[in-house]
This record gives sequence, C-alpha cells and structure tokens, in this order.
Amino acid sequence: MIQSNILDIKIKKTKNSKINTLDWDNLVFGRAFSDHMFVMDYKDGKWCNAQISEFKDLNFSPATSVLHYGQTIFEGMKAYRNEDNSAILFRPEENAKRFNISAERMCMPEVPVPMFLEALKTLLDIDREWIPTKSGNSLYIRPFMIATDPYVGIRPSETYKFIIFSCPVGKYYTESVPVKIETKYSRAVSGGTGYAKAGGNYAGSLYPALLAQKDGYRQLIWTDAKEHKYIEEAGTMNVVFQIGNTLITPKSSDTILAGITRRSVLDIARDWGYKVEERKVTVKEIIDAIKNNSLVEAFGAGTAATIAQINLIHFDGIDYKLNDPSKSEFSNKLLAYLTSYKMGNEEDKFNWLVKF
Ligand SMILES: *Cc1c(COP(=O)(O)O)cnc(C)c1O
Repeated sequence: MIQSNILDIKIKKTKNSKINTLDWDNLVFGRAFSDHMFVMDYKDGKWCNAQISEFKDLNFSPATSVLHYGQTIFEGMKAYRNEDNSAILFRPEENAKRFNISAERMCMPEVPVPMFLEALKTLLDIDREWIPTKSGNSLYIRPFMIATDPYVGIRPSETYKFIIFSCPVGKYYTESVPVKIETKYSRAVSGGTGYAKAGGNYAGSLYPALLAQKDGYRQLIWTDAKEHKYIEEAGTMNVVFQIGNTLITPKSSDTILAGITRRSVLDIARDWGYKVEERKVTVKEIIDAIKNNSLVEAFGAGTAATIAQINLIHFDGIDYKLNDPSKSEFSNKLLAYLTSYKMGNEEDKFNWLVKF
C-alpha cells in the first residue's frame, strides 16, 4: 500500500497494455517501456497536475528551453520483485536527495523527497507486473526534469515537467570491459556540474568515448581536467581498485558523481573486513600497481551495470592486461551478494530496502 498522499495523482490507466508483447528472456537495455508514466508540472512556483497515464509522446514548442540550453537533470534507479509479489526499491531516498542536489546546481525547483517517493511508488504499484522477477533482471526507472518555457532567451525556465517512466531490463554488461585512461578530454571541471546528473555532462562525454571505442575500448577512465594525473570515474560509473587487501576509490568531489552503488559497495567491503580508502588516486599508482602485480582487480560501480569488471587498462600507448576477472574474489562475491540483496533474498542488515 502507498501511505503518503501529498500529490492527489490523477490516474488514467491504459486499456492497451503492451505487457504481452515483451520478450522477457531477451530484455534489451532501455528499449521497451512499461505501460504507464508519471508527469507533473511546475508553474507559478509550485508543483501541480500530477498524473499517471499511458506511456506516450510529449508535445512541445520548438522553442522549449530544454531543447536549446539543456536545463535538464535525471536519476537512474532499479526496482525488483520477489516471490510474494513485493516491489523492492534499493535506497530510493538517496536518489531523491541527489535529484535535488542536481536541481539546485541547474537552477531547477526541488521535488520534495516524500513527493518524489509517492510518485515513484504509485507508478510502480500500477506497473508492478512489469517488474521482472528473474535474477539479474530488474525494472530500470528514469525520473527526470526538463525546463519547459517556450522561450529562447537564456535564463532559468519558470516552468518544468517532472516525469518518471520505466523499462524492464536485463544485464547491462554481460562480460568484463577494456577501458582507456583519458588524458586529453575531460568529463567534468572543478566548479562545473560533474557532481550533478545533468544532461549536458553526458552529451559532452560522447565524443571522447566514441574515439576510444573506435580503438576497441568500451569505456573511458576519466582523469582530472587540470593535470590528467588523478583518476575520477569510469564512464558513467564510479571506479574502485583493489590493491592487496585494500579497496581504493577516488573521493567524491565536485567533479565526481557520488554514486549510491559505490557507497553501498564500500559499506559492504568494510563489513567484510576489507580496508577502504576514499582519497585522491593517481594514474601512476594504478599503473605501478599493475606493473608490480599488486593490483588485484578493478571495476566500475553504478546502478545500470551494478558492477562492471575491468579486464584491461590502456594508458599512454600501452595496453595493460589485468588479472582474469572471472577469478576476482571480491567483485564476484560482491555482485552475487548485491544482486541477491536487492531482490530481498538477504537479511537487510544495512536497512537499504523499501518494500511495498
Ligand atoms: C549515475 C552515475 C554514477 C553511478 O551512480 P549510482 O547511484 O551508483 O547509480 C556514477 N557516475 C556518474 C557520472 C553517473 O552519472
């Protein structure tokens, strides 16, 4: 049951469910959409017109400000469903809070956390059957906000839409990935918007990622924009290295997005007795660790993939092969535990799950 009732959501369910058209055994990431979506408007300084309707196209003026200046933010989260038909969300309040951190940076209105959660739960309750039950599959949820003033002058919009839709998905990466340490282009600069999930960050990262993909690397390891000496993130994931018995990861900053997966991974690692260091990580120490055989493993951490193991790191013209990820003790154990935890099959010892 959905407890809170702040929004007074108008619900119009579709008569043409697409659920039987879905190939549940071959879910492709982000191409199939659940039946319904949540939409609400911001105008005259408040949120209004909360509604859930069928998933459908939006209608806009070509002058709509988001289309020109990119005033837009998003979140990415997942829902799971267990045998007793409970929908399970993993730390959803953290997404709601981060959404508002992004909103502030982009001059957009806050969506109060209880409102965000009510919209989310009401939508998921209606599309409950779309939440996969098979291990490894999940419902990927995309909350986002866009600036909707039909105005081509540059200023923060006065109107916005907050929307949530969802897609049933399978695994994001099915195998480990080769990555390249990027030392020319940058994802984020100090004082910029790197810590926000703001649309423009991703647009700007496409070109360098494409160049790397042409050379056979699946993702970039971003370094600091000033000296390209410090490691920041792996593509759109946080990055974690294991050297000896210690897990090392770049500390969150205004150029690094504070991932919920990363934070959860570190909590679990500490609980399992690993040493954890959140600090500046130099490219040099990672390359040195590969050379002297002390780098045990490396992986990306983010909601879409959960854990993406890295099998090769390219730096400065040289490909460094890492240990075979299929034998990596920590990340394989971690992935199995987190997957099972998110499906409600482990004791919720960290109090991370929201079931309804
Ligand atoms: C979303 C995102 C992450 C991962 O955050 P999670 O909360 O773990 O999903 C990391 N880096 C960037 C740039 C991101 O956009």
